[in-house]
Amino acid sequence: MEFRDLQAQYLANQAQIDSAIQKVILGGQFIGGDPVKQLEEKLADYVGVKHCITCANGTDALQLALMAWDIGQGDAVFVPDFTFFSTAEVVPWVQATPVFVDVDKDTYNMCPESLEEAIEAVLQEGKLRPKAVIAVDLFGQPADFPAIRTIADRYGLQLLEDGAQGFGGSIGKRMACSFGDISTTSFFPAKPLGCYGDGGAVFTDNDEWAALVRSYKVHGKGNNKYDNVRIGMNSRLDTLQAAVLLAKFDRFAGEEMTAVNKVAMQYTQFLQDIVGMPVIREGFCSSWAQYTIKVKNHRDDLQRMLAANGIPSMVYYSKPLHEQKAFSNLHRLYCSLDNTVELCQEVLSLPMHPYIQNAEVKKLQKLFGDMFA
Ligand SMILES: *Cc1c(COP(=O)(O)O)cnc(C)c1O
Repeated sequence: MEFRDLQAQYLANQAQIDSAIQKVILGGQFIGGDPVKQLEEKLADYVGVKHCITCANGTDALQLALMAWDIGQGDAVFVPDFTFFSTAEVVPWVQATPVFVDVDKDTYNMCPESLEEAIEAVLQEGKLRPKAVIAVDLFGQPADFPAIRTIADRYGLQLLEDGAQGFGGSIGKRMACSFGDISTTSFFPAKPLGCYGDGGAVFTDNDEWAALVRSYKVHGKGNNKYDNVRIGMNSRLDTLQAAVLLAKFDRFAGEEMTAVNKVAMQYTQFLQDIVGMPVIREGFCSSWAQYTIKVKNHRDDLQRMLAANGIPSMVYYSKPLHEQKAFSNLHRLYCSLDNTVELCQEVLSLPMHPYIQNAEVKKLQKLFGDMFA
């Protein structure tokens, strides 16, 4: 069993991908061009926002958002303690301070009460200016945006959606990557919509921020690349990657999203009475970047037993961000982070992708049945 089967996905899309790649190579334009423009239009339309600006990866996308908002020294940016490193890494990169917020134990996403507690504690202390919240669509489920939006508005904070794992998910009729004032995603190969290298995108309805991101991602360009009006970076999505994403897109938005949700439902049916389950909120839809269970006390045994039977599994994430050495000089405690500490001891992600076969689900069901009999 594959943890995420990119080969099966390639074989399902082989004709489209091969011809798209060949067309780019024969055309001889490897940076920019039609595929990049077409992809940006397609993704903006799918997400339901005005602007999609592609860039080199999901980490740059987050950083470009903070740059567009001119966030810097003395600013507090609230980030979940339980996420991939990038979400918080970009904050000190613009000289601002990350403030870690706890997550909900059922959804693994930012806890609105914890966010409010941390904002109040920062205001009380009076050293940092609360400026922005980065809410993550962890493992594919959109964060609790109805609640987080209310809090962000009440305190006048910008809301940044880190949709690196959430692309394809939704709340009601609204798609992931439309919930932030700016939202971002990643096209790293193993993400819900992945390319064959690095890639990312920024989404927003705001014309001014979109123009700033377009400038920052090309050396702070003014009227053209050789007119430089601000200090920027070099962060582009390659033409080849855009062509691959276009070739994969229709199946991703259709069959693949249906298939992962079917696998998740099958998993849930046989796991719900024996381990802790990923809870999907009423009206929310996950793109199932990961299917993550919680196992008390015997996670290592379970992981070994699965491995012995040819089933890969991963621990996302084993360490709270506030315990990462890189943040040791920056981190101060503004709220309890106990849920994150507990989750890091218990979580285990199982194989999850659109090409999992029924026989593989049955095998997993039998293994869990035997183990927890
Ligand atoms: C993968 C990921 C990123 C970074 O994306 P890259 O394209 O690898 O830079 C950011 N945030 C989260 C939550 C991620 O999972």
